[in-house]
Amino acid sequence: MNYKIAVIPGDGIGPEVTEQAVRVLNAVGDKFGHQFEMTEVDAGGCAIDKYGEPLPAASLESCKQSDSVLLGAVGGPKWDTLPGNQRPEQALLGLRKGLGLYANLRPAVLHNALKDASPLKPEIIGDGLDIMVVRELTGGIYFGDRGRDGDTAYDTEKYSVEEVERIARIAFEIAMKRNKKLVSVDKANILESSRLWREVVTGLSTEYPEVSVDHMYVDNAAMQLVRNPKQFDVIVTSNMFGDILSDEASMITGSIGMLPSASLGTGSLGMYEPVHGSAPDIAGQNKANPIATIISAAMMLRYSFNLAEEAQAVENAVSKVLDSGYRTGDIMSEGMKLVGTKEMGDLIIEQIK
Ligand code: NAD
Repeated sequence: MNYKIAVIPGDGIGPEVTEQAVRVLNAVGDKFGHQFEMTEVDAGGCAIDKYGEPLPAASLESCKQSDSVLLGAVGGPKWDTLPGNQRPEQALLGLRKGLGLYANLRPAVLHNALKDASPLKPEIIGDGLDIMVVRELTGGIYFGDRGRDGDTAYDTEKYSVEEVERIARIAFEIAMKRNKKLVSVDKANILESSRLWREVVTGLSTEYPEVSVDHMYVDNAAMQLVRNPKQFDVIVTSNMFGDILSDEASMITGSIGMLPSASLGTGSLGMYEPVHGSAPDIAGQNKANPIATIISAAMMLRYSFNLAEEAQAVENAVSKVLDSGYRTGDIMSEGMKLVGTKEMGDLIIEQIK
């Protein structure tokens, strides 16, 4: 098969980490007989320098014409003094909106080789922690009516049946591809929007009889994540709760350089990117950990192209390299072998071959 991928290297370490992910995708293509046709697209600070805006119309159009988008990171001190609506990060909002991406997938996977990096005790972590947080991305309180009224300020949490149903459907579909275990997180004891959320998730569950569904209040979920994270497989929740819980879940795994993410909408087009930023402090020094971006590319294979075996091959390759003791600086510990960005890419590609 032939797949078109728009690659947005962006700023700082973005170009370094996407370069390795592109090499990994090409290695997967060679091994499994797929053609990945990559087009490089400008967005972020580098697009401001070239065209005067963070997301030129032509860049968005290239992404729309692709089967999927791979993004490194955008931003940096050079553009920090620009007004909010002209900053590189606007490119991310523009891409999400322009591509209709309303679901954010944030896996929190703790590789056994990196157990020491977790702030939780080993007996709480156990073996093989693997949680997927599915966050609603374009609705709720971040987009609701807000304002000031004299010395009062307000924000509005609002969800429609349609908005809840489409994000819940994505979560159910993901649960079907995993362990068929879904926890929907809300605050239905207080919020009316949460009561609607719960009704819709419960209604949809009849279409997925194989998936076990539990409902949990957000305060309890925040507690359970650090008390017994292994009870979770897929979590689905609203924009704000998801913002907070996905950060909490990812910190259990310890390292920012290891965390991938995906944003999906209706249809198969998605945007895949590491959770970390452009890390200007280590940019251009071959020090960045490319694994978050490489696993984001694996998510692309799984969720946009439905290539589960290929995705698994990438994830297994990453685990093997970590098991063999190779580390970039951010995940380095005593007795391990320090490698750079490119060498880490080489090692993962060797395993895939
Ligand atoms: P950051 O994630 O870029 O860096 C935080 C720390 O983590 C730094 O010390 C950095 O060296 C380290 N780090 C991050 N990724 C790493 C990797 N792959 N390997 C090794 N070390 C890594 O966050 P920040 O410093 O708050 O932000 C820097 C810039 O990135 C800002 O301009 C910010 O707006 C932007 N940003 C962009 C995105 C994005 O593009 N999605 C996300 C967050 C921040």
